[in-house]
Amino acid sequence: MAEETIFSKIIRQEIPTPLLYQDELVTAFRDIAPRASTHILIIPNTLIPTVNDVTEADELTLGRMITVAKKLAAEEGIDENGYRLIMNCNDHGGQEVYHIHMHLLGGKPLGPMLAV
Ligand code: AMP
Repeated sequence: MAEETIFSKIIRQEIPTPLLYQDELVTAFRDIAPRASTHILIIPNTLIPTVNDVTEADELTLGRMITVAKKLAAEEGIDENGYRLIMNCNDHGGQEVYHIHMHLLGGKPLGPMLAV
C-alpha cells in the first residue's frame, strides 16, 4: 500500500486548499509554487504514486484529467494562446510528490519544452 501524500489531505480538505474543480474521479487546485501565471494541478482522487503504477482500470480517470484540464484552461482564458500539460515520473522526471498529477501551465510563452 503506497503512502499517502499531502495531496490526499487536500482532496479530503483536511488541508483547506481552495479547489478549482472536484468530481468523483479528479480534483484540481493551484500549485503552491506557481511557475507561470496559471499553474494548476489536476490529480486523481485515488492514490496512484507514479505513472508507472497506472493500469487500464485508471483510463477513465486519466481521460477525465485531460477533459478537466481543457475546461480549466478555458476558464483561465489561456486556451486560445495555448498551454502545456506535464506529468513527471520518478527521479529523472523530477517528480516531487508521489501521487500522480498533471501540471496545467500557461499565461505566457513557455519556451522550449526542456531547458538544455
Ligand atoms: P512534481 O515535481 O511534478 O512532483 O510537482 C509537485 C508540485 O506540487 C510542485 O510544483 C509543488 O509546488 C506542488 N505542491 C507541493 N505541495 C503543494 C501544496 N500543498 N499545494 C499545492 N501545490 C503543492
